[in-house]
Amino acid sequence: MSTLFPMSPRTQALDAKLAAFMAEHVMPAEAVFAQWDEDPAHRWQIPPLLETLKARARDAGLWNLFLPDPKHGHGLSNLEYARLAERMGRSLIASEIFNCSAPDTGNMEVLHNFASAEQQARWLTPLLAGEIRSAFAMTEPDVASSDATNIGLPITRDGDDFVLNGRKWWTTGAGDPRCRILIVMGVTSPDAAAHRRQSMVLVPMESPGVSVVRPLRVFGYDDAPHGHVEMAFDNVRVPVANLIHEEGSGFEIAQARLGPGRIHHCMRLIGLAERALEMMVARARTRIAFGVPIGKHGMAQEAIALSRCEIEQARLLTLQAAAALDALGNKGAKDLVGMIKIVAPRMACAVIDRAMQVHGGGGLSQDHFLAQAYAGARSLRLADGPDEVHIAALARSMLKA
Ligand SMILES: Cc1cc2nc3c(=O)[nH]c(=O)nc-3n(C[C@H](O)[C@H](O)[C@H](O)COP(=O)(O)OP(=O)(O)OC[C@H]3O[C@@H](n4cnc5c(N)ncnc54)[C@H](O)[C@@H]3O)c2cc1C
Repeated sequence: MSTLFPMSPRTQALDAKLAAFMAEHVMPAEAVFAQWDEDPAHRWQIPPLLETLKARARDAGLWNLFLPDPKHGHGLSNLEYARLAERMGRSLIASEIFNCSAPDTGNMEVLHNFASAEQQARWLTPLLAGEIRSAFAMTEPDVASSDATNIGLPITRDGDDFVLNGRKWWTTGAGDPRCRILIVMGVTSPDAAAHRRQSMVLVPMESPGVSVVRPLRVFGYDDAPHGHVEMAFDNVRVPVANLIHEEGSGFEIAQARLGPGRIHHCMRLIGLAERALEMMVARARTRIAFGVPIGKHGMAQEAIALSRCEIEQARLLTLQAAAALDALGNKGAKDLVGMIKIVAPRMACAVIDRAMQVHGGGGLSQDHFLAQAYAGARSLRLADGPDEVHIAALARSMLKA
């Protein structure tokens, strides 16, 4: 734990409460959720225990912790919330139980910061209450979407409506039966400057013409019941009142959405890596190979020691980025936020990979959470922008300075 960024008293209190709730309710639920999901009769359905635990977390005051706005959230700074995101990140099922999971968190921030009062009443209120879920559809199969200026799905004005046609993919959460609303990025002004062509519109999931083409799998994991799906938009009509903010502001909103979200993702990865290291240590202590516990072999010791170093490094950097985001805003913290997006997913992949190795064949199986954790960590070398885009942006900034 970092002594350079001590927790505030209120974060300490929330973290202790969160830790107790996780131990009592969340960790035991992991096996229940996994069993539910393995039953073919339950595929793409929500385990009833999830809603029970959400209600319990809400009653315990562990709800919407991510939102800096004190009216709807807890008024925590990015630095304060970062510690709680790390705690939740230890379990792949935890964040949703506290209504703190992506992509809803980013979508709620967009609605909170950019949506009209009517849009907020219709979509933000039920999202904050955890009654519905949402998805964010930007990436397209036909263009290199790491360059957001390539996003090409046409959103064409027709009277009082916008009409959408095209494909999106990797739309996380759109496989969830509770997903009611999509934030879709597309082109409203094809002749405008590159960064003013796109807009974001709210598209209700039940709109005629919206369909899920297929769920995508990451190394075989489909992450049901939320999923990452390919979607089709065939002459989908929404009123122009569904435009978020103003025409041409898609790029600006996408940038604003990503600052705090990257801190959340990276801190969750640090929690995930901590758990993997704990598992690595426990296994190395007890499993005997060549007459001694695996931990007595130098190569296992290297795996443990390097993992400890890398987690500490990544945590310090991420807390530094969170502090910078609080003090300087998105623009001022841009380089540090880019750095953590480069460092944390690679660190988590390396640590989880070592933990799998120390576990032997079992480490790659469904018996430990490591393989699924690795798939999640590896995804984050692409989701929210691939490593290379962040590396290039950071290098440009250094060269300019
Ligand atoms: C599990 C998962 C969940 C996701 N969830 C969502 C979601 O909810 N909503 C959504 O809209 N998208 C989502 N994505 C998509 C993700 O954001 C994109 O995959 C990512 O932005 C890259 O876009 P692309 O796949 O089109 O890759 P491309 O743009 O085709 O890029 C391919 C590769 O080119 C290389 N490259 C690109 N730019 C550079 C550069 N400047 N220098 C050097 N090399 C470069 C990189 O190696 C990059 O990986 C998700 C992805 C995954 C895997």
